Amino acid sequence: MADDSNQSTPLEKPPAAPDQAAAADPFGGLTIDFGGGANGAGEAPAPAANGSSPIDFGAPIAFGPPANAPPADAPLSTPMRPKTGGPVGGPDDGAERDEHRTKVLIIGSGPSGLTAAIYAARANLEPIVLAGAVPGGQLMITSDVENYPGFPDGILGPELMGKFREQAERFGTRIVDVDADRVDFSQRPFRVWARGTEYRADSVIVATGASALWLGLESETRLRGRGVSACATCDGFFFKGKEIAVVGGGDTALEEATYLTRFATKVHLLHRRESFRASKIMVDRAIANPKIEIHTNTAVDEVLGGAKVEGLRIRDMVSDTTREVPMEGLFIAIGYRPNTEIFKEQLEVDDKGYLVVHDETGSKIDGVFIAGDVHDHRYRQAVTAAADGCKAAIDAERWLESEGISEAATATAW
Ligand SMILES: Cc1cc2nc3c(=O)[nH]c(=O)nc-3n(C[C@H](O)[C@H](O)[C@H](O)COP(=O)(O)OP(=O)(O)OC[C@H]3O[C@@H](n4cnc5c(N)ncnc54)[C@H](O)[C@@H]3O)c2cc1C
Repeated sequence: MADDSNQSTPLEKPPAAPDQAAAADPFGGLTIDFGGGANGAGEAPAPAANGSSPIDFGAPIAFGPPANAPPADAPLSTPMRPKTGGPVGGPDDGAERDEHRTKVLIIGSGPSGLTAAIYAARANLEPIVLAGAVPGGQLMITSDVENYPGFPDGILGPELMGKFREQAERFGTRIVDVDADRVDFSQRPFRVWARGTEYRADSVIVATGASALWLGLESETRLRGRGVSACATCDGFFFKGKEIAVVGGGDTALEEATYLTRFATKVHLLHRRESFRASKIMVDRAIANPKIEIHTNTAVDEVLGGAKVEGLRIRDMVSDTTREVPMEGLFIAIGYRPNTEIFKEQLEVDDKGYLVVHDETGSKIDGVFIAGDVHDHRYRQAVTAAADGCKAAIDAERWLESEGISEAATATAW
């Protein structure tokens, strides 16, 4: 917990003159060192003219979408939807497939769901994906993804998810952009309802992910990917040499604040209460870290800035007064909500509401498999979710084969 001196210490950095700062730093000061900019990410801008920035300017990150990228809020295009739903380039007898019946029904279309679809489709299992009302998952609300293998220059989150989807559809996955609103796993075939339609499936892969919790401020939404983030592991690198804030009071907030000191010059930990929910060891570690400044009884009322985060309006919860402080980034670490509501009666959930897996991807019901962030609150990365989707599809395929539902001959050499 913070001592009084921490609470009364102002968030020190003097504000740069806004017009000067904006002119000198047109890319929002969000920079990344690509090792000399040889990747074509662009020319490095000149250092700030007013000399107030401690930032080592590398190549800038372009936060605007590239010419061919879909807008972040646009539904993903469906470039290749085969008429029969049969595998493209595979054995397709041309018969209409029952569009509500499948060997593998996948619920969720983030990295785990769509990877499961790619694998299941390539095994000729003709999967159906109920993609959710907001298809694509968490990466749809982020800008640059720089740690997904295969994209050395990084890729925008929505663009990456568009590629996942295109690849799944190429092999015959049928994708329906609806939320599943009810499931019945008590008998086979399993039954899943979405917007009044009943789907029946021999196996189900649950890949509904988790939703990051946000403060709910309009300015926070507007500046997501422009200095506001909910994932330190994913975005910490962008805040090299910057002064940033982390909001939250649990273990995750303390852990993220500590992690972010690898990049930031200073991390302000803002917590609206007097005491932390986090474990004592995490709090002690943060207090001992000279780069972390703890501000208890402090809430964020507004994120300030036009094209990027420039400051915060914070509220002292004791005196109920506000003030504005300069800040170059804001990490929201107030938790995640796993999307497990419709499964709670049928599958096991842990004390945090995440699904419980057995033997890698299994659930307590044979034939129902689980993949990605819906069970994983440890790694929470696109690549681990994708790996999980792969495992779930292979496990589903082998289970179907063991049940005599899919023929051994259809099993793909993955
Ligand atoms: C701001 C932010 C930035 C991130 N940046 C990175 C990064 O740079 N690199 C990285 O590796 N990871 C990053 N992550 C983490 C990464 O996005 C997740 O780990 C990953 O998306 C998890 O994939 P998933 O498929 O398990 O779940 P999700 O991506 O959460 O997808 C779940 C899907 O299920 C759907 N769904 C939910 N309920 C239902 C329902 N009832 N019926 C049908 N569908 C449903 C949702 O609409 C969604 O499409 C970031 C996360 C956030 C929040």
